[in-house]
Amino acid sequence: MTPTEGSRPLRAVFVAGTGTDVGKTVATAALLRALRGLGVAAQAVKPVQTGVAPATLCGDAISYAAAVADLAPVPGVPPAAVLRAFSLPASPQLAAAREGGRLTAADLASSIGEHWEGLAPGAGLLLLEAAGGLLAPLNAREGMIDLMAEVQAPVILVARNELGALNHALLSLEAVRARGLELAALVLVEPPRPVAEASGEAVLAENSRYLAEHLAAHWPQALFCRLPWGELSGPAGWQELAQVLLPLARALAETGSGSRAGDARPGVDLEARDHAALWHPYASATLLPPLETAARSHDNRIVLADGRELIDGMSSWWAAVHGYNHPRLNHALRAQSALMPHVMFGGLTHAPAVTLGERLLAAMPEGLERIFFADSGSVAVEVALKMALQCRQGRGERRRTRFLTPRGGYHGDTLGAMSVCDPVTGMHSLFAGMLPQQFFMERPSCRFDAPFDPAALDDARRILAEHGDEVAAVILEPVVQGAGGMWFYHPDYLRGLADLCRRAGALLIFDEIATGFGRTGRFFAAEWAGVTPDILCCGKALTGGVLTLAATACTAEVAEDICRGGRVFMHGPTFMGNPLACAVASASLDILEENRWQAQVARLERGLAEGLAPCRNFPDVADVRALGAIGVVEMTAPVNGPRLQRFFVERGVWIRPFGRLIYLMPPYITPPEDVARLCAAVVDALAADAWRLPD
Ligand SMILES: *Cc1c(COP(=O)(O)O)cnc(C)c1O
Repeated sequence: MTPTEGSRPLRAVFVAGTGTDVGKTVATAALLRALRGLGVAAQAVKPVQTGVAPATLCGDAISYAAAVADLAPVPGVPPAAVLRAFSLPASPQLAAAREGGRLTAADLASSIGEHWEGLAPGAGLLLLEAAGGLLAPLNAREGMIDLMAEVQAPVILVARNELGALNHALLSLEAVRARGLELAALVLVEPPRPVAEASGEAVLAENSRYLAEHLAAHWPQALFCRLPWGELSGPAGWQELAQVLLPLARALAETGSGSRAGDARPGVDLEARDHAALWHPYASATLLPPLETAARSHDNRIVLADGRELIDGMSSWWAAVHGYNHPRLNHALRAQSALMPHVMFGGLTHAPAVTLGERLLAAMPEGLERIFFADSGSVAVEVALKMALQCRQGRGERRRTRFLTPRGGYHGDTLGAMSVCDPVTGMHSLFAGMLPQQFFMERPSCRFDAPFDPAALDDARRILAEHGDEVAAVILEPVVQGAGGMWFYHPDYLRGLADLCRRAGALLIFDEIATGFGRTGRFFAAEWAGVTPDILCCGKALTGGVLTLAATACTAEVAEDICRGGRVFMHGPTFMGNPLACAVASASLDILEENRWQAQVARLERGLAEGLAPCRNFPDVADVRALGAIGVVEMTAPVNGPRLQRFFVERGVWIRPFGRLIYLMPPYITPPEDVARLCAAVVDALAADAWRLPD
């Protein structure tokens, strides 16, 4: 939902049943009466009504109107409304399909928003009565609960007191919890008396006691109400029910039940609190960086606190390859959290780590045979450097303590990793004296898409000839140098380098933290060259962008050398092999396979190459390139990051340039029209000169 500037924030609450026929409509109508009795200009709304002939007042709306028939009308706020009506008495999905329509949570949410805007300004609250149970389908992918999540209104859950009520109520509460929705109340509707033999008064009393206790323990903010079976004979009957719901009506009137999605500018306060308390990546704490407040995310979209949706062009720094809130990843997370969120990895093992380790080794270049799990990319790089150093010690080569790496690299922000980052963009001068001194060679100069020039290896050859016996290992990002300049170089460079390393006795470390999991068009970028390194790091997209996890793999030979003579490898993060992260990572590997990532990435490469091509026509553009799911526009001078960020957000896209680079690396699931919009926004930014720094 996208509230327009200056619109009133939506105030709404959803009334949902634990099933059909539980007394939801009666509860909604009684609550409407209680609210109107308190002077709140409430309206009961069926966003979707099935089983009726379309008319203004149809289906449940007739009950709503009847419940307040004797109360004074509120001008401009009729008691009831139906937004979408279908004649088939079935689930919304079926009923809509029968009439050739398709319902989506987003469309219904905007209908609700528009409906609210159309009411008189005095309107106080919408009671949105859901159709059927929480998971009643709207379409093949979404259910009623997705509409609730879209609107972000609190939920009143209505259950009927009968045999089986506990199971239905508890399942529904779990669903509410899983979507991060707020529960305003649980209303237990009593059956007509006398009750059937099977239920029995004792069962009903026990149900009620159990639910009251469960609510107090797990949902302390929510109210528990028991609604007696009403003989709905006119105003007196309705008044009796309304009286029972009065405490709930008061609570709703007091808190106002603003939909979290509709607040005027809910992000403003958060931004101020953020500025007072937090630090952001590579940012000043005193010169404040521009911030947007992200509230939710789905598919390839980031939803801001004010309801605006941005098309994501960054995959949250290479990570969210399947987009956001992928149901399978979220499910893996929940399922594992119910079993065991974490245990120490010292002395203990578990299925999520073993399974993931085996699968990673199977996917990595042939010859890598052992996995060490770390909790972030930088730590995985530290682990790789330490593996190389301990390997040398195991071999008795104590002179080999330094690393050789190309300029323009990026390997993380911890001290060891920083020492092998590009000395200029890595700001080595800031930490001079602290950082270990490494050898730097020329950046691999030969473009990915040009014929290979063997001279590109001259500098590596020279340094290895001079200092080869001091070098423990050569470390580099294969094929794509990421944060150091988004540079794509020729795979033959890696073949030549691997050969030089072998001759010089130096180990070869590939940092695939950015390039892994298909981003460059190969599962690991090492495959472009057919080279197996001695050590390989991966991370970032490993969990599909859900949790932090990284892994360092090495060959059997490296492992044996490290452990020679009973030695051990000296590293062990507290959260090593975290079961949640490992379970999500395995699910992410499944999704990559099922989605056929090769086709997704190939489609993105074509879309990015085509969409960014017009950038070549601008005089300040130095280069335009695309490889796999990465598209880059390199300018001749540094760009104005904050200004561009604002420009892009205004155009509904999330792109974060740095240095001289405006680049895109969208989630693999990005549809072609969104790739086109991302590229068009970059072209627009150049056309509007929005990239320029002030003189
Ligand atoms: C991001 C990155 C790292 C560091 O990973 P973190 O998880 O941010 O610590 C290391 N190497 C490369 C190539 C990266 O892109």
